[in-house]
Amino acid sequence: MGIGKATALLEDLIEKAGGCAVVDGGFATQLERHGASINDPLWSALCLIKDPDLIKRVHLEYLEAGADILVTSSYQATIPGFVARGLSLEDGELLLEKSVKLAVEARDKFWDAMDRVLGHSYNRALVAASIGSYGAYLADGSEYSGYYGSDVTLDKLKDFHRRRLQVLVEAGPDMLAFETIPNKLEAQACIDLLEEEDIQIPSWICFSSVDGENAPSGESFKECLDIINKSSKVNAVGINCAPPHFVDSLIRKFRELTEKPIVVYPNSGEVWDGRAKRWLPSKCFDDDKFELFATRWRDSGAKLIGGCCRTTPSTIRAISKVLKGRS
Ligand SMILES: [Zn+2]
Repeated sequence: MGIGKATALLEDLIEKAGGCAVVDGGFATQLERHGASINDPLWSALCLIKDPDLIKRVHLEYLEAGADILVTSSYQATIPGFVARGLSLEDGELLLEKSVKLAVEARDKFWDAMDRVLGHSYNRALVAASIGSYGAYLADGSEYSGYYGSDVTLDKLKDFHRRRLQVLVEAGPDMLAFETIPNKLEAQACIDLLEEEDIQIPSWICFSSVDGENAPSGESFKECLDIINKSSKVNAVGINCAPPHFVDSLIRKFRELTEKPIVVYPNSGEVWDGRAKRWLPSKCFDDDKFELFATRWRDSGAKLIGGCCRTTPSTIRAISKVLKGRS
């Protein structure tokens, strides 16, 4: 697949979805609802080892809810993370591969079943391999502060991401999703890797935001998007895991800064306390509010809309219903 084809894949999906495609919702949240224990530095990646069937089940729940894009369970799955748990390098790589395979299997199973249903309104979903930020691996809340310390250089970030990126791409996802990127340096590392590895599938880069105006590091989104705009390997750019009340103004800001399609999948508005490792209730969004805001976000120019932490299949069903006019 060349760059033109990579762009077309995402654009076709957006068009088939009626102008705005639906991304799935919180993964760990749904695993927990099914009783999985994810109180671990590996977070939902732990489930890849302990209960892969449950991962597939959650993917299927999001497909049924109307997700056009499934994001894999590899957000916090990293080779150094697995090695720190006593796994071999080889087993760590197999788990990364498995995160893609499970999502592809769920998608294929769902799509085969839908093929026999007359007049259904689903699209064949794309599988996006999740690549969480370096901060997500550190599990110290730095994906929301953007501060990695002065010893973390561009090369160090590229080294951290390279092998995982290679393994995920070899496993055959439709696209890549870089998530909760907190600063310009890590965005540059992602872009450099896409170029150096000559990745042929589409990708998006999503930033988190804690003030509703800038990247968590305090760097302006103009600085961050200027470097992304220079790369043809990045096919969409946006925001994930920020509170929903920031999203509308960030979409408008991004529209002035880039021509690339904009993707947003905020969390529910609860606040993650990275040190205490728990959710603090605040301006929380329920599904009705997501439904209302999803149309506003579309009207402001978002082309891909979904949910992040603490959103569920019922959130995604509400978004899908309102965006696709499905009853
Ligand atoms: Zn999140």
